Amino acid sequence: MQDPDTICVVSSALGEAGIGVIRMSGPKAHSILRTIFQPKRPVDSFASHHLYLGFIMNPETRDMVDEVFAVFMNEPSTYTREAMAEVYSHGGIGPQRKILSLMIQHGSRIAEPGEFTKRAFLNGRIDLAQAESVLDIIQSESDQETGSALRHLTGMLSERIAVVKDHVKQALANTEAMIDFPEEELDIDTQEPVVLLDKARDKLRDLIFSYAEGRAIRNGLEILIVGRSNVGKSSLLNALLMEEKAIVTPLPGTTRDLIEDVLHVKGVKLRIIDTAGLRKPLDEAEEQGIERVKKRIPGADVILWVLDNAEDFLEEDEQIYQKIEGKKIVSAINKSDLPQKLERERIIAKKLTPIDVSALTGSGLEQLREALYEAIIGSGHKSPAILITNIRHRDALVKADEALRQATSCIKQKAPLEFTAFELREALARLGEITGETCTDDILNEIFSKFCIGK
Ligand code: GDP
Repeated sequence: MQDPDTICVVSSALGEAGIGVIRMSGPKAHSILRTIFQPKRPVDSFASHHLYLGFIMNPETRDMVDEVFAVFMNEPSTYTREAMAEVYSHGGIGPQRKILSLMIQHGSRIAEPGEFTKRAFLNGRIDLAQAESVLDIIQSESDQETGSALRHLTGMLSERIAVVKDHVKQALANTEAMIDFPEEELDIDTQEPVVLLDKARDKLRDLIFSYAEGRAIRNGLEILIVGRSNVGKSSLLNALLMEEKAIVTPLPGTTRDLIEDVLHVKGVKLRIIDTAGLRKPLDEAEEQGIERVKKRIPGADVILWVLDNAEDFLEEDEQIYQKIEGKKIVSAINKSDLPQKLERERIIAKKLTPIDVSALTGSGLEQLREALYEAIIGSGHKSPAILITNIRHRDALVKADEALRQATSCIKQKAPLEFTAFELREALARLGEITGETCTDDILNEIFSKFCIGK
């Protein structure tokens, strides 16, 4: 990058907070901070990556702005690989705004969303897949999501892709050698590229198949609560969500008859959907709600079937079961605090192990969480080492795989070698899009515009 300017931004969330982080990156970062920062104890020269206590002052008026910690970081050992400076001020909007405007007055400008990470990418510290994982970490909600994104950040995906690329590059070198020299002059195994491409495609397909699971982890696995009305579905959901409510906000787009909430169980994100009760519709609006529930049954990862301990097993319960039969089911008998009337055998006969719970007293909730977790893990949702969670990556992998399939078929059909070489180059270009080696400015701008300000 040529002559970058110096950028500044408040990196912490704006609002009242204990601490606010204001950072700068670029050639003037250190000189600007030296102009506006007054250390408490005199300092000859600021050591890199050391914290200094002092004050941010307006150098013209000598007005004190805030008491802060300041740090100077020499290039290239920084996030962006440029000279960077950070100020940890009090977290009020007032001091942060003033510090930022002093930085701007002295020669920096406000950073665009994702501009720090974009510089880290353009300066070669991280590749594009790693840059995208920074955003994934910021947006992650569950341990699984964070873990998956962290593995991408450490470059595990990029390493996998590098291995595939090596196979393709070898096959290309081999093909180009055969184009340049007649076969008899070379000691080349003409089938070697096929073997290499098979290996490459195996690895690509593992990654492509991991997308379904990667997406499930990112979006959360879906648990649909079903049961006739008044068995206590909503009460049970609220009881399960008791701890979550404090930290989790409902997902956007929730409706009165289909309520989505996020529940975290042992680091797994579960999206719980409460339904309007699968029963005979009373009016048209409700009918639509029930239709929507039925439509969601096939897509749900696990069904939580709720029954009422204090009532008989009704025909309606049986009808509901018929709609969910064949799915992964966790059955819960609610209202276990009331005298038992329900014939448990009816449920056990369906090869289910019902869990006694009471939304009212909270008994059995831990066992229910455990059963939901087991149902998810049992359905194969373990977390493999590396998962594709990004649709852009998946699309590029699919295109690369298709190019390799074409290349293989060219070789097998003894098509002109130039065709094979063309497909191999195409595959390399698609793989390069993931790590950012072959990526247009438009794609880069789109990726970084999704970032929050300050990263
Ligand atoms: P839904 O229609 O299935 O969502 O059922 P609700 O959650 O609205 O509950 C129906 C009624 O059952 C309400 O009056 C609740 O207070 C009551 N209820 C729910 N759970 C329990 C429970 O565990 N024990 C008792 N005794 N009552 C419950």
